[in-house]
Amino acid sequence: MTVGKMVFCVAIKGKTMIYDIAIIGSGPAGLTAAIYGARANKSVLVLGGAELGGQMGRIAQLENYPGFLGNGMDLAEFMKKQAESFGAVVIMESSLKIDKNDAGFSIRTEKAAYDAKTVIVATGGSPKRLEIRGAKEFTGRGVSYCATCDGFFYNGKTVAVYGGGNSALNDALYLANLAEKVLIIYRKPAFTRGERVLVDRVESAKNIECLFNTEIESLDGDESGLTFLTTNHGQKIPVDGLFVAIGHEANTDFLSEEFSRDNLGKLVADGTTIADGLFVAGDVRSGNKMQICVATGWGCEAAMDAVAYLNKKG
Ligand SMILES: Cc1cc2nc3c(=O)[nH]c(=O)nc-3n(C[C@H](O)[C@H](O)[C@H](O)COP(=O)(O)OP(=O)(O)OC[C@H]3O[C@@H](n4cnc5c(N)ncnc54)[C@H](O)[C@@H]3O)c2cc1C
Repeated sequence: MTVGKMVFCVAIKGKTMIYDIAIIGSGPAGLTAAIYGARANKSVLVLGGAELGGQMGRIAQLENYPGFLGNGMDLAEFMKKQAESFGAVVIMESSLKIDKNDAGFSIRTEKAAYDAKTVIVATGGSPKRLEIRGAKEFTGRGVSYCATCDGFFYNGKTVAVYGGGNSALNDALYLANLAEKVLIIYRKPAFTRGERVLVDRVESAKNIECLFNTEIESLDGDESGLTFLTTNHGQKIPVDGLFVAIGHEANTDFLSEEFSRDNLGKLVADGTTIADGLFVAGDVRSGNKMQICVATGWGCEAAMDAVAYLNKKG
């Protein structure tokens, strides 16, 4: 069904709306797919999940997306508005389950069920949770997975960042502008995975210290929250906050086990296709380099493949 620029509800005159393309995820991959799908005159629904912009929305200072310098959430808002201007409907609900049906697919969320002829999965990744003693207990009370969301609470305090990839380095640099002291704790002997420009900035920051070859073994605190961490070398380090950046997990829980995953849990695709009428884009696709440019590229590709599929079916 082709609906141009009109915005539809789930049901029209008692009939269930069947979208041409349902996109799961409102990160750069999903929003790019929405722009391309809607501009191809297809009816597009974006089920955006909990976080508009996804991981991109957490980037305080984005410097390597061509033509844009600034806050990742601002870019997400621009992309959303652009997609909506072509008729895409963006609803911030999470897909709990996708089933095949006569229309193509039925997508169930916590609030409703939606039908679509094709689906593009663009659900990216979520931060890997720390699984040590105290981690769960102090999450939200000293332990955070988002520096740009929670950094503000640590103004003038001492924080640690756990990890050594680009996310950890970015987090440390962001926090260094707020906290009095930032300690990066990394299990490897050097920042071998981080971009050189970020490593240089971390090394020249006056209030960032690095502790290599070290893992955190447990977290302790009191009723006010986290107060210290203990390393695998037995050091007890007082901290007000711990920002965890130890990697990401693919968001694919809502998809059945029949779709093949790689050893990181990402969806294995032939191009963008994972099944008849089912496409994948962005960080959740196996083999993708985790960058916004790459995610938008695959979002475009998946939408063009979905449009070609719909046009072929007639
Ligand atoms: C701290 C940090 C800094 C970064 N810095 C840079 C940088 O400087 N430059 C760069 O190019 N890249 C950077 N990246 C990586 C970049 O942000 C990601 O590669 C990119 O956002 C991936 O886009 P995506 O659309 O595939 O997935 P994501 O951005 O992860 O978006 C996934 C979307 O799916 C939604 N979702 C998840 N589950 C469901 C569900 N069940 N139902 C519906 N929706 C769901 C989420 O709400 C979200 O909207 C950074 C990442 C982080 C975490």
